[in-house]
Amino acid sequence: MATAPTTTRDLGSADCVLDREGLDALVQALRARGRTVVGPTARDGAIVLAELESAAELPYGWGVELEGGHYRVVRREDEAAFAHSAGPQSWKNFLLPERVRQWTADRGPDGEMTVRAERHDPASYAFLGVRPCDLRAIAIQDQVLLGGRHRDDAYGARRTGAFLIAVECVEPGATCFCVSMGTGPAAGPGYDIALTEVLDDAGHRFLARAGTPEGAEVLAGLPQRPADAVTRTAAHEAVEAAAGRMGRTMPSVDLRALLADTLDAERWNDVAARCLTCGNCTMACPTCFCTTTEDVTDLTGDHAERWSRWDSCYDLDFSHLHGGPVRSSGRSRYRQWLTHKLGTWHDQFGSSGCVGCGRCIVWCPVAIDITEEAHALHQEALSKGGPS
Ligand code: SF4
Ligand code: SF4
Repeated sequence: MATAPTTTRDLGSADCVLDREGLDALVQALRARGRTVVGPTARDGAIVLAELESAAELPYGWGVELEGGHYRVVRREDEAAFAHSAGPQSWKNFLLPERVRQWTADRGPDGEMTVRAERHDPASYAFLGVRPCDLRAIAIQDQVLLGGRHRDDAYGARRTGAFLIAVECVEPGATCFCVSMGTGPAAGPGYDIALTEVLDDAGHRFLARAGTPEGAEVLAGLPQRPADAVTRTAAHEAVEAAAGRMGRTMPSVDLRALLADTLDAERWNDVAARCLTCGNCTMACPTCFCTTTEDVTDLTGDHAERWSRWDSCYDLDFSHLHGGPVRSSGRSRYRQWLTHKLGTWHDQFGSSGCVGCGRCIVWCPVAIDITEEAHALHQEALSKGGPS
């Protein structure tokens, strides 16, 4: 029988156990702090990310069935809340929304145009259920959008102060390969609170640990009890077991070198024959960050706006330089995406651009699989005496 929860805990102390009541208290505590809590919920035949008013909206009892070009929610036999892997959205939908207005311009009575930059008020998000791969994806977008010369202040306003509650993976999807990319299934750095869901004879509960002082402060105010050995062991074993059940793997080679050495591979023709250049993979990818700008005016010409919106390296216009697109073929556009994601991203940002979430595999309408392509390139390189 479960020990009765206690309600106080020392700041900075180690892990503790929350039950479902504690999880709901966590959502309410964050809302009471003025945060907009966003987390997974079952809606419209998918597990989507949406604002939560209570933990009861979590997808208790729902799992997902994933494959290349295939996504289904399925009923589970238990009441797990986080037994689903990456869905159609990622946290970039909130931190880097699809469309953001940058400025407006209005003509005054004197005929002069006044331009007003859009104000980006700081958001106060709490993200509940951030998978370890997505935790890494947020860190990658931080590096791209905040870490260089071209800082995105609108992203910064949303990201600064976002409270991240990671949930370690115990139920990897058939398209997951975080182990190959070193991003999961255990949570790496960057979370305020990390949870591991445990469901066994001792009950439904969450092993929780704080990663920041604010995380410790929030945890300390929740109904909880000290972590026990049974829960710790169960949580550890569940994450270890998940690591051994990854649906996909990447070849165990230096992917950056592999991509650099296979620019002329025959495989690019094969994948180009299947790729629709629809850009779904870039929209679903939690690290893809490219945007373009659009200017619009009203019919009178007295009001104008500039918007940024997501762009994709699969769009012809994306590589339009003087006179036309540099990458006019599907082959060159797929190759650009993959070589950047797995190769030249390292040169630009010091890490891989892929976290192994598998979304690009699931949401590709023709089931093109980044891991299959990497293995095929590796095999072709081997057949030509390349890197082993
Ligand atoms: S490239 Fe695919 S698997 Fe890698 S992070 Fe992007 S969507 Fe996920
Ligand atoms: S790989 Fe798939 S999702 Fe990506 S552009 Fe090609 S067809 Fe679309």
